[in-house]
Amino acid sequence: MRPFNWIYSICIFFLLAVSIPGLAIAKLNVVATTEDIASIVKEVGGDLVDVKAIAKGYQDPHLIEAKPSYMLKVNRADLLVYQGLELEVGWLPLLIQGGRNPKVLPGKPGHLDLSQAIAPLEVPTGTLDRSMGDVHPLGNPHYHLNPENGLLMAQSIADRLHRLDPANAEIYTNNLERFRHRLQNKIAEWKAKLEGFRGTRLVTYHATWLYLLDYFGFESIGTIENRPGIPPSSKHLAELSAVMQQTGTKTILQANFYDDEFSELLAGKAQGTVMILPVSVGGVTEATDYFSLFDVLTGELENAFSRP
Ligand SMILES: [Zn+2]
Repeated sequence: MRPFNWIYSICIFFLLAVSIPGLAIAKLNVVATTEDIASIVKEVGGDLVDVKAIAKGYQDPHLIEAKPSYMLKVNRADLLVYQGLELEVGWLPLLIQGGRNPKVLPGKPGHLDLSQAIAPLEVPTGTLDRSMGDVHPLGNPHYHLNPENGLLMAQSIADRLHRLDPANAEIYTNNLERFRHRLQNKIAEWKAKLEGFRGTRLVTYHATWLYLLDYFGFESIGTIENRPGIPPSSKHLAELSAVMQQTGTKTILQANFYDDEFSELLAGKAQGTVMILPVSVGGVTEATDYFSLFDVLTGELENAFSRP
């Protein structure tokens, strides 16, 4: 490029930056560990935030590779938002360390653990034995699958955006109220779809589904992974198969990123079916945001249990 063109390009860039205030420059950079969190941040932050998710909805959020490109995202973040309860313990500390960004270190305003806002289920009692490799040592971290927890997550995000960007607090409050209103309407719709199936018994592969089943009144009679993150023993599979037969349980629910070998084995014995569903935004193409994730899940469950 000739020197004149080069100087000309720089002048145009600065003219644009000055003449369009707010274009890219004023946005808060938010890094969310999951697409579920990113979706809620978009609802609350609107045009004032630029949000990027690390784990894709079709990936197991327990097992994400700590890539240098993710460290670069953390390096540029004004706010890091994560699910907590050790969901991301295998990779997020590495991203924070590699990101070398003092704004998002624990204890700083740019560091937000959303699990502080919710009441976790399945909190272990007694002594923890981590040598067994249990990936839920602080309780079940898949709490976004209770839609009322989605509201608590949104409130926590709004509080933090107020603190980081007080000049726009009113906009964040209005966005939160719009999210709350829409979510409450959608919850009524989702509950109506599944009301007739309360008490239906299910088996799940991983404990991912607990919050969803609990909220909509399904009964989980067991998990194939009886210790989260650890493949089941043949003894456990035999016991679970017996319970399925005794209780007439026919359906096994499984997230779409696990191998379905064990689920198919049990379903075969029970003459039942394996339902493979997304558990996060982005898990299937239809689940484009937090609302459509529940549209997909409640629709699939309604269809499955409506069949004669
Ligand atoms: Zn888990």
